[in-house]
Amino acid sequence: MTTPLSSRCPARSKRSGEQCKRFVVGGGVCPMHGGSAPQVRAKREVRIALQEQLASSERRSSADILVDAQHAADVVARDLQTSIERGTATPGDVEQLMAAWQRAASLAKVTADARVDERRVGIAEQQGDLMAAGVQWLLDELGRNDAAGRALAGRMFSALGQGVLPSRVVPGEVSA
Ligand SMILES: [Zn+2]
Repeated sequence: MTTPLSSRCPARSKRSGEQCKRFVVGGGVCPMHGGSAPQVRAKREVRIALQEQLASSERRSSADILVDAQHAADVVARDLQTSIERGTATPGDVEQLMAAWQRAASLAKVTADARVDERRVGIAEQQGDLMAAGVQWLLDELGRNDAAGRALAGRMFSALGQGVLPSRVVPGEVSA
């Protein structure tokens, strides 16, 4: 188990304006600044539990997490609708729905951003493949599909800032 996140107490001295120097496991304010209050302690324990869960659980795709968050928001929305019809809805129910929607909305944004990155990675891979094909053709044309030729290709890729050679032109794996 990893150590739960520890962060500096955010409270500031009224006189000096300096931030408190104590570190709190689970974050939030230290005991001197109200960290022992039951509601503060409860929130801190939730954060610690989440940290431990994150450390021990398998990583899921952002799309799976988003679908779950949307499902949760939908369930909360339907519950609220039922309580409105029965006349038992409370402001707390509405807050719960808002929180569920906000979570789904922010996850949707994160997922959309991740997709943009995925597309960039895809484009970079395509460019890498094209370059690999180009280099292969060049080597074949020059009759240099040998160690010296592959070294030349390696230098060319480095010069192009590719960093990693696509498998097609990895030294020793070049097809004749
Ligand atoms: Zn403090």
